[in-house]
Amino acid sequence: MSDCIFCKIANKEINSEYVYENDNVIAFKDLSPKAKLHFLIVPKKHYDSILDIDDEAVRSDLFKAVQEIAKKFNVDESGFRIINNCKEDGGQEVMHMHIHFLAGEKLRNSIN
Ligand code: AMP
Ligand code: ZN
Repeated sequence: MSDCIFCKIANKEINSEYVYENDNVIAFKDLSPKAKLHFLIVPKKHYDSILDIDDEAVRSDLFKAVQEIAKKFNVDESGFRIINNCKEDGGQEVMHMHIHFLAGEKLRNSIN
């Protein structure tokens, strides 16, 4: 999608602080971090929400990204949190599917 900010970041038309990449997925630092480590894991192809992903390879590469980022940033022992805000009631503001990856400190025992 030509006017989508995360498409532009994924295509490297706009630069970002990239932290990870595999065949179908790229991850970069959130502009407004809510934890010491706060990354956004996005499919390179545009999908509005998690419900629209119909490609098994993309589904698989999203989970692979979570596992590999945890190891890369040495939080596979200490732990982390992933969040997907889906559509309006879920609080999704950027309409390009993304998984928030939060880590690097003890997070509150709350889902929000
Ligand atoms: P959500 O509410 O789940 O749609 O979250 C959108 C997230 O994208 C927020 O945490 C923003 O801080 C983040 N964000 C928005 N624009 C950018 C950008 N250009 N680069 C990195 N993160 C961004
Ligand atoms: Zn997009």
